[in-house]
Amino acid sequence: MATNSPGRSDIRVYNGDRQGPMYSLIVPIYNEEDNIPVLYDRLKAVMDQLGSTELVLINDGSGDRSLEMIRALHGQDKRVCYLSFARNFGHQVAVTAGLNFARGQAVIILDADLQDPPELVPQLVERWREGYSVVYAQRVKRRQESWFKRLTAYGFYRLLQRLADVKIPADTGDFCLMDRQVVDLLNAMPERNRYIRGLRAWVGFPQTGVKFERDPRHAGEVKYTFRKSLRLAINSLVSFSIVPLRLATYLGLLAALLAMAMMVLVLYWRLFQTNSPLDGFATVVIANLFFGAVQLICIGILGEYIGRIYDEVKGRPLYTLAEVAGFEQLP
Ligand code: UDP
Ligand code: MG
Repeated sequence: MATNSPGRSDIRVYNGDRQGPMYSLIVPIYNEEDNIPVLYDRLKAVMDQLGSTELVLINDGSGDRSLEMIRALHGQDKRVCYLSFARNFGHQVAVTAGLNFARGQAVIILDADLQDPPELVPQLVERWREGYSVVYAQRVKRRQESWFKRLTAYGFYRLLQRLADVKIPADTGDFCLMDRQVVDLLNAMPERNRYIRGLRAWVGFPQTGVKFERDPRHAGEVKYTFRKSLRLAINSLVSFSIVPLRLATYLGLLAALLAMAMMVLVLYWRLFQTNSPLDGFATVVIANLFFGAVQLICIGILGEYIGRIYDEVKGRPLYTLAEVAGFEQLP
């Protein structure tokens, strides 16, 4: 590790009086009992290499033996701290909780299923030492993921780039390193809909990517079902763009134009032709259904935004903790 490279070398001194570890590794865990042993082995090698590091595990309401295994790890390695939610709150919330508790100067988020190779972490750290505040891992290849997932992910990231107000790099997941400054800013954000990839781009500061090939899941099933992925996609669009709201205006204009064209046509047929080709029940039904659909879609889009306003206004806590351990001592 380049400790005396320019850029961040001063942080060691700063870290000295802050009384925290240099690095925090954050791993959200939801029913990953088959992955935890291998995950720990591989992370341990990385932690030994990095030096002053804490490992923050977040148990997101797992129903299997994950929590027991996490407790055991904490028992045998004091660098392991953990949080346990009172129920399943979802991946983004788990990561948020990890960010709330992590004490490192550089915070690294990775998945528990080893799709984000821990061995890439030293490379992320190297870029951070060069002076970047956010170093995200960018997947150039997804091994063994279905064509449907690859296609939808490809389309989604491009659509998001077109619509979002901030530039969110394509093909990045949550796997990244963030500087303390960025983490503090994220923690200070009051919003409940946390699309971390978007928020970390939103804060600005120098950001860069490190390319990697995404491995298939080590064991267990994918926790992001199609429904959860779709919800995340809608969330990210609604949180980072108001273009969908404008869609209602455009659709309305289009419908008005269509209606006017029809009026002219119908008048023409009435006045100059004996039997109008548009006469009949079917035409009326189709036109009705069409405009009904346009209106419902627009109300639906409005609803997405209003639902989010409602969520924010209620101001409930993001998560409830059943157990916290390991944060009282320093690793
Ligand atoms: N995860 C979580 N809560 C959930 C769903 C997933 O903490 O409700 C964790 C999961 O244990 C894993 C990570 O989030 O560490 C990514 O999940 P998964 O591998 O299923 O998603 P994908 O790789 O398809 O994005
Ligand atoms: Mg995965």
